This record gives sequence, C-alpha cells and structure tokens, in this order.
Amino acid sequence: MAFTKKTVRDIDVEGKRVIMRVDFNVPLKDGVVTDDTRVRAAIPTIEYLKENGAGVILMSHLGRPKGDGPEPELSLKPAADKLAELTGYDVKFVADTYGDEAAAACAAVQPGDILVLENVRFLKAEKKNDPEVAKKLASYGDIFVLDAFGTAHRAQGSVVGPAEFIPAVAGFLLEKEVDTLTSIFAEPERPFVAIVGGSKVSSKIGVLENLIESADTLIIGGGMAYTFFLSKGYTVGTSLQEEDWIERAGEMLAKAEAKGCKILLPIDNVVTDHFGEDAVGEVVDSDKIPDNRMGMDIGPKTEALFSEAIAGAKTVFWNGPMGVFEFDQFAHGTEVVARAVADSDCTSIIGGGDSVAAINKFGLADKMSWISTGGGASMELVEGKALPGVEVLLDA
Ligand code: ADP
Ligand code: MG
Repeated sequence: MAFTKKTVRDIDVEGKRVIMRVDFNVPLKDGVVTDDTRVRAAIPTIEYLKENGAGVILMSHLGRPKGDGPEPELSLKPAADKLAELTGYDVKFVADTYGDEAAAACAAVQPGDILVLENVRFLKAEKKNDPEVAKKLASYGDIFVLDAFGTAHRAQGSVVGPAEFIPAVAGFLLEKEVDTLTSIFAEPERPFVAIVGGSKVSSKIGVLENLIESADTLIIGGGMAYTFFLSKGYTVGTSLQEEDWIERAGEMLAKAEAKGCKILLPIDNVVTDHFGEDAVGEVVDSDKIPDNRMGMDIGPKTEALFSEAIAGAKTVFWNGPMGVFEFDQFAHGTEVVARAVADSDCTSIIGGGDSVAAINKFGLADKMSWISTGGGASMELVEGKALPGVEVLLDA
C-alpha cells in the first residue's frame, strides 16, 4: 500500500461529529447538477460514517466565487439535493458557512445526520488558509475527514486548516486516488505503457519526466508531439509548437533512451489548413508536414503503432488526448487509443479533465480500472509531488 495516512477506518467515529471536506465542485445548469460523478465519489465515505454512528457535516467549494459573500448561482444546495436523491438520506442544508446559523446547525447534528454547509469560498479568507477560518471549521466537529481529492493539492482553509486543531484522517476516495496514482510508480506490473497527450509540453513537463523514470514505453501524442518533432529537426508547419521547449524536449528523448524507456511519437498525422469545426483533414507523414498545415490528430499508421504497444501492456497510465477531439473529425486517434486501452488486458489508470471527458464521450468509462476525479491533484501525484491535504493527516 502506498497510502501511509490514517483513514476513517482507523479512528472511532461513533457518536462523534465529523466535519468532512468533499469535492462537490459539480457543473450546474439552471440550478441542477449536470454531472454527478463527484457527488457519487463521496458517497462511500459518507455512508461509512453514517452507518458507524457519526453525525456528518459536509463542506466544499463550487466554482469560483468572488469571495465577498453569497452568490446564489454558486450555492451548494443543488449538490446537497443530488446527494439526497442518490442516497435516499435526509440531507439537511444550511445557507451559511462561517456564521451563527452554520454554527447552530452543526451543533444540532446528531449521530446519523447529514448536513451540508454553504460554499466555503463565499469568503475570500478560505483560499488563503486563514487561521480564523481553520479554527471556525474545526469547531464544528470532533474529527476532520478529507475526501476532496480534487482539491488536496491546495493548502486552503477547508482542505488543510481543521487538521491543526482536531484529529484529521482520509476518506476512502482520497485513499484510493493516492494509492492508485502512486503505486503505479512504485510497483507497476510490466510492461508499463504511459500515454501522454494534450496541448503543451510545458504544462506536462513534470509528468513526462517522472514517467520516463518508470515507464517501459512512453507514447507521446496530441499537440505536444510537434515540439518533439522540432527537436528531431522536422518542420511542423502551423502546428501547435513551443519554441522555448524544443531543447528540453530533445533532452528528454535522450534521457529516455539512456534510461531504456522507449518513446513512441506519431509517424503520421491528420493535418488541416485552419483550426475550426469545419476544417477538413488529410494524412501526412510526420517528416512531411507542409508549411501551411497544422497537425490536429494522429494518423492511421500511428493509431496502429500505439494500439499494438497498448495491447501488450500490463499497466497503462493515460493523460491527455491524442488530438483535438472536441471536433469529431479529429477525435478518431483519441478514440482508437481509448478503445485499445479498454480492450487491453491491463490495469488502466486515467487522469486529466479532458482525457476523462474524451473517455466519457466514447462511452468507455466503465472499461477502465480507475478514472481519477482530480485534474491538478492527480497530475501533481504523477509528478511525484506530495499533496498538502494528505501531508497534514495523521500518520498510519
Ligand atoms: P488533460 O485535461 O486530459 O490533462 P490537456 O488539458 O493537457 O489534457 O489537453 C487537452 C487539450 O489538448 C484538448 O483541448 C485538445 O483539443 C488539445 N489538443 C490535443 N491535440 C492537439 C493538437 N494537435 N493541436 C492543438 N491542440 C490539441
Ligand atoms: Mg485539460
């Protein structure tokens, strides 16, 4: 086990009030939750606490409030309603977070009760981990539980604060995410094939460098491939490219070779003359991209090459789409790779907001072993960084 902190299993919760930070940062449309993945992800811990005799107080942020007071369209009420709908529990909601009303509602929580507080970010001080915020939130409970994996990389008041005042342990989601995303580096079943795509080398540099250390094969696709092509002396036309990162990309290829990590870059590409929904693609080899063309997706030879590597994998980690999958005509490469992962007899771990969106778009989510609920937090783990929210928890 790669998880070294105490969880709700390791602490007596009976008759206790538990203040728990969840990630209910859900998309809303007209006051209704349009994707309940994050609410569902928190249910196992909520259920465990309730069944073991704790009173549960839930808090989360939602969206990006200004921090100067309530913003009705960013209320957590719809998330509380969704939790009630999904669990059948009587879920109470209080339209306050730090005031007397919230304090009174928390004080009234009995074993088995579930109370949701209002958006923690309606107050600016929360983001800065103000000690007053931390103290206030800690005063609501006897135990602090962190299950908000999606914000565990942020040292904010509701994420790390209460741990200074009351015993702090992890919920099941946080435990599973950290365990999964760290054990692939510690003890991957081999061959371990990592797939990295998306737009930029610069935003994935730490991820790439850490994967080179442990993967047997690193597949590179998406917009970042063009900066790697430049480092090999190819021209890339009007494709996405990062001048300042060409040298680093070249160094990475050399380092991978020295480490025995095989790098697979696209051998052909779907290119077009402009970036748009109506753009029409044509296939060209990677060393023959015309000056006035931009790469939008991997080509068919590359799809076959990548799929073969994935079919032989025992562990796959994937972050970043292979092309501009938002446009249907450039989604093919990402879809073929997603299907190859789904069909492969491997443990498959998917991280990153757009990658997860792509997998959902193709209806392949239930074919993957683990789909991370955190974007930034999962990337930081893959970069080998410690998460502040995890650091503050009691050691197991
Ligand atoms: P994730 O959210 O999974 O970490 P990123 O945010 O790094 O992924 O990258 C996703 C974005 O990369 C998508 O919006 C996609 O359109 C873009 N992208 C992929 N391939 C290309 C390309 N060839 N040119 C430009 N953008 C690309
Ligand atoms: Mg993204």
